Parts: sequence; C-alpha cells; structure tokens
Amino acid sequence: MRIYNSLTRKTDIFKPINPPKVGMYTCGPTVHDYQHIGNFRTMILSDFLYRTLVANNYQVKSVRNITDIDDKIIKKAKEKNLPIEIFTKEYTQAFIEDLGKLNILPTSISPKATKYIEQMIKYIEELVKKGLAYVERDGSVYFDISKFPCYGKLSDLNGRTLKTGTRILSDEYSKDDAQDFALWKAAAQDEVGWSSPWGKGRPGWHIECSVMSQQHLGDTFDIHVGGIDLLFPHHENEIAQSEGKTGKPFVKYFIHGEHLLVNGTKMSKSLNNFYTLKDLVGKGFDPLAFRYLVLTAHYRDKLNFTWESLTAAQNALENLREKIRGWKHAGNGLCGYYHEFIEAVNNDLNTPQAVAVMWKMVKAKKPVSAKAATLLQMDQILGLNIEKYLDRKLNIPPEIQELIRQRDVARKNKNFRLADQFRIKIQKQGYRVTDLEDKTRVVKR
Ligand code: AMP
Ligand code: ZN
Repeated sequence: MRIYNSLTRKTDIFKPINPPKVGMYTCGPTVHDYQHIGNFRTMILSDFLYRTLVANNYQVKSVRNITDIDDKIIKKAKEKNLPIEIFTKEYTQAFIEDLGKLNILPTSISPKATKYIEQMIKYIEELVKKGLAYVERDGSVYFDISKFPCYGKLSDLNGRTLKTGTRILSDEYSKDDAQDFALWKAAAQDEVGWSSPWGKGRPGWHIECSVMSQQHLGDTFDIHVGGIDLLFPHHENEIAQSEGKTGKPFVKYFIHGEHLLVNGTKMSKSLNNFYTLKDLVGKGFDPLAFRYLVLTAHYRDKLNFTWESLTAAQNALENLREKIRGWKHAGNGLCGYYHEFIEAVNNDLNTPQAVAVMWKMVKAKKPVSAKAATLLQMDQILGLNIEKYLDRKLNIPPEIQELIRQRDVARKNKNFRLADQFRIKIQKQGYRVTDLEDKTRVVKR
C-alpha cells in the first residue's frame, strides 16, 4: 500500500509499526449540531481506508472520538437550558444513525471526551512538570510552543508567524498565527467544569484527541485521519503535546482529506451553506448515492457538491443495481479485475480508478456468477451494499405500477407539479423514485 503522508509531504509505502497490527485514529465530530455531508466526506474517507487495510490483511484497531465538550456546546446547551450530556445526546445519536446509513463500519472504540477528564488532567500535569506548559493566574493552563523545538513539523507553519507569549483561549483557533494554546480553560463557578489542581475548568480541544488516541493506541501509533482543516493547528498541537510528553514520535502517517465544497467554498456550519444527510433523503436520494459520489473523487481533491452531481451518482448506482439484478454469485471471482481494483485502491486510495475498474468488470463479457463474486469482493471496500441487490427480483405491486404510469404521462406533458405529487405518493408507499430521461425508475427502499 502507498499513501500520502502529510508528515513527509509525499506518498509513502505503508509500513505499520507492529504488523499485522495497525492503530488508526480519526478526529470525530463536535456534537453541538447535526453533522453535515462535508463532515461525512471525511468519515467516508476514514471508513474506506479502514476497509482497505482490512482487505490487505491488517488487524486494525480503529478509534474515532466524539468531542462532547467545547465552547459551542456549552453556549448552546445553556441557551436551551439543558445539561450538556442531554444536549449532546441527540446529535451523537443522529451522527451514529447517519454513519449506518452511509454504510460506515463501526470503529473498535468511540470514546467521548467527557469520559477522559481525569486522564486529561494527569496529562496536563505532566506537561506542566516538564516545563512545556504554564499556569495562568485565572487557573487556565497553556502549552508554551516556544519550549517545543519541533513545533511546525507537520504544517511547516506555512508562512505563519510564531507568536510566542500570546495565547488562544477560545476554541475558534487562529489559522494565521501559531500561538500558545489552552490545555485547560478556567471556568467560573456557575459555568460547566470539572475540578482540577488549577481550580474549576474544562479541557481544551487539542488535548482531548491526544489523550483519547494514546489511551487506546499507545504513545506511538500508525495512522491519524482528519479533514485538511485540522492539519493546523489541531494536529500540529496534538503532536506538540504528545511528543512533548513522551519524547517519542506520536504518529507515523497523518492522512488528510480535502473538503466538500458548495459553490467553491468549504461546506461548514459557520457559513450556513451545509446540507445534512436528512436533507438529501428528504429530496428522495439514497444515502449511498452520496457515498458513491464521494468515491468518484480522489480524497486529496476538492469536491464541489451540486444536486446535479448527486443525481448523476444516484443514477449510476441505480444503473449498477439494475444491471446486476438476478445475478447469482457462485464460485471464484475474476482475479485479474480484482487485482487491478486492489492496485488502484492501494495506490493512495485511488477511488475514482477503483470505481472505473468495477464498472469495466461489470460490463465485461464474462459469466455473471464470476462477476457477481468479484463485485462482492470489491464491495467489501467500496461499501455500496451491493449484496442486497444481487439475486433480487423487482416485485412492484400493480397499484404502484399504475402510479408510475400516471407519473410518466404527467412528465411527458411537462406537468411537473402533478408528477411531483405522484412521486410523493410513490415514496410514501416505501419506494424510491429516480428520473430517467423518458421514464420513472422505482426501487424498493
Ligand atoms: P468538526 O465537527 O467541525 O470538528 O469536524 C469533524 C470532521 O469533519 C473533521 O475531520 C473536519 O475536518 C471534517 N470536515 C468539516 N467540514 C468539512 C468539509 N466541508 N469537507 C470535508 N470534511 C469536513
Ligand atoms: Zn482531533
């Protein structure tokens, strides 16, 4: 396997520290709201990488955290007058449900930050003892980046100035300057917080990930995954804390996924230009059409989200399902195609090429039983839940067929409002509707 490593800034051959074991950590969501499909692009990357490692016979321990304490959570929970556990529960639950809909496999462990406060305090104590952190008069503790000589090794600081002696207290970190950052933030008596040797307070965001990852994967582990926005300062700061504390390398491979964009800008909560999976499903899309769309772009390329591209992805997926309907999988797969597929995947997760090889195989003039067997093997990595569609007969009851017929007439007459009403009726009966050029395609949900 070869993978682009942000630490070395090149595509490296993947050699785990302790093969066949692999430890992998993904920065999970901050649960102050529903996650948008941009967040899920990164979660799909992490899942794809996990599946690829497993296909390469590695034994993977994967960890993805839930950040269930930060400034936004505290502020929003206060506005709603809810304890933070109750406030974050709804969004955590929704996140887990969406992962399932996207066929993202469960991780080995999914730690929540608030369950590790004690370990975080101990960790910070060690950093203070080592002279890498200092305590402010208000009871906040900061990491002193000037004391860690390798600060900047991941991001190269990229034109940022190292501002020693200046501090960042908020969770909204500056992307422009490198500054001391809070490990522990003092809290007033009536604010959310935990008691610590420095008084009441709460952990900073970066320390959470260092503690949770090392707790489960050891001082040094193989892979750390996140969106590209986390490279600086989040991952830079994680390295400083972790290597400062242990004196050992923190992570061997840092893997960063590019963003999902809308009209050329990053999809994000703060810009309010985001869609959730629920929005997509509400418009009649299959969540796996989004997964398919994500796979058609390389993870290190930006992907601009449009409804047209999602429609194209859904059509491609429906075409695949239609094509393989009734195929029975038996016997051996087609080694040549599978080999070509794995080569693409192992070459820095070249998913667009892998999808192309999959299609080439599906269309090849070969026995369908062998093609079905190969497709199932490929789908262990693609995760498009293909098995469900093999061997399947499409039994659409006559009353639904009648609705489809009437809808087709309405569409032909360009009466789109009526066609839409029929679509809603069909969907309510548990079918998904996709528009082909001249007819309506309907599948059972
Ligand atoms: P957050 O909840 O904002 O901390 O983000 C959780 C994960 O989603 C992080 O790995 C982010 O880098 C990633 N992420 C956030 N926005 C996007 C986006 N528009 N495209 C891809 N990944 C994103
Ligand atoms: Zn993190």
